[in-house]
Amino acid sequence: MWIDTHCHLDAAEFGADDLVERERARALGVGLCVYPAVERANFAAVRELAHRTGDAYALGIHPLFVPRAGPEDLQALAAELERRVDDPRLVAVGEIGLDFFVPELCTPAMRERQWQCYREQLRLAQRHGLPVILHVRRSADWLLKGLREAAARGRPVAGGIAHAFNGSAQQAQALLALGFKLGFGGAATFDSARQLRQTWVSLPPEALVLETDAPDMPPYWCYVNAALRAAGQPQGRNSPAELPRIGAELAGLRGLSATALAELTTANALAALPRLAALRPAAARAVALAPADQPAAGWCPSSAASNTEAS
Ligand SMILES: [Zn+2]
Repeated sequence: MWIDTHCHLDAAEFGADDLVERERARALGVGLCVYPAVERANFAAVRELAHRTGDAYALGIHPLFVPRAGPEDLQALAAELERRVDDPRLVAVGEIGLDFFVPELCTPAMRERQWQCYREQLRLAQRHGLPVILHVRRSADWLLKGLREAAARGRPVAGGIAHAFNGSAQQAQALLALGFKLGFGGAATFDSARQLRQTWVSLPPEALVLETDAPDMPPYWCYVNAALRAAGQPQGRNSPAELPRIGAELAGLRGLSATALAELTTANALAALPRLAALRPAAARAVALAPADQPAAGWCPSSAASNTEAS
């Protein structure tokens, strides 16, 4: 069984295909998906989707949505967590974090707002004993600072997942020491992503979880390059149904079978987000794995796209 630990299946890009894509993923062995929220406006959407598809969700305010979030949004998050904390499908606070890559978010004022919003959400995670799903972009050291501050204040944040990890070996070690797993997906399928692939192969097995970040972060076979986009073709849509093929590609880099990587990353996901254990499909609880060694044909029309351009 595979677990897509980070998937925005409620995103507008899926339109009416959300349930179709989820079933296609299930047929390929994706037993569970985690749907992180990004802003107050989609708290209900991720919860309802998780209940409809038998999956999991997280509640939080994404750093890219901080510019349009105010104190009332944090209050709404606090109230929603209070209301849903006993919902077994609520598995984390997320997606939260810091983005020091997007220029509009890097002004001193926006950095400060992101920081305050992140710290406040760590407090909520601490209050409820929930893990966190972190958005890390040029911000790993600051995220770590927030986690250490939180631990100095009270009980430590209960670990979680650093999503789309692309930091240094030292940052990886520091996150692992705080109980985090590191999320990898489509970006690591590109031959050109040398540093990311080096990180993927050099981390200890217990560090690794898989994710698609669908509809974003397409693997190379979904990716529409800049020239085609300039000619009017939209970027390829990633899907949780691509996870088994992403897993098969990444397994090869570590000299593992796809089945072994599915087993390993599923165990790691359950360790990072313990509430997932109770949500596993009955068959997966008994057998632990569905055969998933054969990459299946994907939705992506651009399978012939070259595997040379980094996303
Ligand atoms: Zn995300």
